[in-house]
Amino acid sequence: MALPRLLPALFSPAAWPSQCLICRAWPARSLCPDCTARFTRPVPRCSGCALPVPAGVPRCGACLVDPPPIDACLAAVDYAWPWTHCIARLKFHQDVGLAAALAALLAAAPGVPQALAHADWLLPMPLAPERLAERGYNPALLLARQLPHASCRTDLLLRMRHTPPQRGLSRAARRRNVRGAFAVEAVNAQALQGRHVALLDDVMTTGASLHEAARALRRAGARRITAIALARTDAPR
Ligand SMILES: [Zn+2]
Ligand SMILES: [Zn+2]
Repeated sequence: MALPRLLPALFSPAAWPSQCLICRAWPARSLCPDCTARFTRPVPRCSGCALPVPAGVPRCGACLVDPPPIDACLAAVDYAWPWTHCIARLKFHQDVGLAAALAALLAAAPGVPQALAHADWLLPMPLAPERLAERGYNPALLLARQLPHASCRTDLLLRMRHTPPQRGLSRAARRRNVRGAFAVEAVNAQALQGRHVALLDDVMTTGASLHEAARALRRAGARRITAIALARTDAPR
């Protein structure tokens, strides 16, 4: 191939060798296929909260007793090594190039292709303005942009304020903590009327923020809301 034709291919990031973040294989993509297969074995998850459940059990006891304000909840992986490491790099170390590899995991997770196909809007969980200013980017938006969905919107769901970490708080305290943290502008309610929404977050911990965002979307008229998380932490204590 003539050099001028070869040069653009060489300078495309996809052509650069890189090291697998997990097993350190070199050259590899940022997540090599072996590690991806090894650490993403699907487990049965509760359709209400995405926590692991025994095979054949669609909903956990907690979701049966107290149904969450979302119609479905999906997660690709447990929030455990090596994903804690990869997500920390994406969130806190400016490794925004990892978004494509992590979004590919998400796009292949059970239920996610169907949820994306049925969603009118894909909404990344917004960060509070002060958080966005501090970090410079929203990891959930980076993931959303890499997913196979044409209608990613950042204007429909607004974050009014940052909420402190929820873990360790009682259910009532978590609910109080996030009350009013999200809003939909009246001018945007029409776009949500009767619509299916996929709400995307990088890590789902207690679900309190996703639930509060879902309540704001529901009040604005959204009909079906599916929460999708890249990683799910274990049950809150
Ligand atoms: Zn590897
Ligand atoms: Zn559940």
